Amino acid sequence: MEELSLFRFEDNCVYRKSLLYRSGIGKNIWALNHVQGCAHGCRFPCYAFMMAKSFGRVKSYEEWIRPRIVCNALELLRKELRKYRPERVTMCLSTDPFMYDMRRRDLFPEIKQLTLEIIALLNAHRIPVTALTKGFYPDELTDEKFLRENKLGITLVSLNPEFKKKYEPFSAPYELRIESLRKMHDAGFRTWVNMEPYPTPNLDPEAQKVERLLGKINFVDEISFGRWNYNPEVKKFKDHRKYYAEIAKKIVKFCESHRIRCSDRLRKYAGIHR
Ligand code: SF4
Repeated sequence: MEELSLFRFEDNCVYRKSLLYRSGIGKNIWALNHVQGCAHGCRFPCYAFMMAKSFGRVKSYEEWIRPRIVCNALELLRKELRKYRPERVTMCLSTDPFMYDMRRRDLFPEIKQLTLEIIALLNAHRIPVTALTKGFYPDELTDEKFLRENKLGITLVSLNPEFKKKYEPFSAPYELRIESLRKMHDAGFRTWVNMEPYPTPNLDPEAQKVERLLGKINFVDEISFGRWNYNPEVKKFKDHRKYYAEIAKKIVKFCESHRIRCSDRLRKYAGIHR
């Protein structure tokens, strides 16, 4: 990480022709990515990194973990909001809006600032956001100018520090993520946890004890879940399909007893269709 400390955003930003887009993952889901790359450097591997590499946006993992801000993001968004009126905007599908800087044990201030300005601009147009991070939520978000319809989430698939070191080495500590989400919940936001990609026990020996993780997030409004793809080790775990169904059932049961909404995918994994 030493090399990363030489990096300065002002020398290193990118210009884009557009910002808002309709994502291919769901009907009418609008998203934006105001940063290229992600310092969290997940090694699941990261799908966004694989895509960026295959489209020639970055050449290597080392380049990916040196994030570059989209310098004209606000200008583009102002223009695009004259043309489009999305019901909600997802931040982000191929980077992280509240990126953690492992060296300083804090968020990257430039990314945090730009993310807050983007959310403020969207919210001023009465457009809420759905955010997801492996960083943490800053206290500034509790300001009353931010719509309480914003839906704020963290990704959390383990509490095991050894697992984190190996697969999401530079993301924010688990406890910090959870603590910040609880603050957002207390401030009146709708909160959620994305448990994807959930590991098999050969990748994380603690994965079978999902109850421990659930106990830490019993305050949230919604939980979503997904299996681990793009890693051949998953299929080496005997009966991995059955395992995922059992974990999903435990989560659904937990959600039902805590009045937490389960995502449709989570129900599907648990074999519940409705
Ligand atoms: S936090 Fe998300 S975008 Fe960033 S490296 Fe990890 S998986 Fe990729």
